Amino acid sequence: MVFKKCPGQDLSRKKMEEVVCNLPCPSCGFEVEFFFDDKNRICPECGAKVSKSDVQLLKDFGCADWCEAAEKCIGSDLYARLKNAKKKK
Ligand SMILES: [Zn+2]
Repeated sequence: MVFKKCPGQDLSRKKMEEVVCNLPCPSCGFEVEFFFDDKNRICPECGAKVSKSDVQLLKDFGCADWCEAAEKCIGSDLYARLKNAKKKK
């Protein structure tokens, strides 16, 4: 089996703690589990939409910084958001 994925988002190169993170729901505080490629999730407790912060996105899509295929790979919307988030730092 051949995976055509960019090396930055290759799961086999990631550590478990880099793949999954927990973010508290802004509405009820429930710890919602995010995988690295999730941008938003629905809280299983109250149904509220939980979004990843820019900081967390930068961490999870750090490869977008150096990878030439990043814009194609993660989509131009997210790519632009990451670039903006980076500038704010
Ligand atoms: Zn909730």
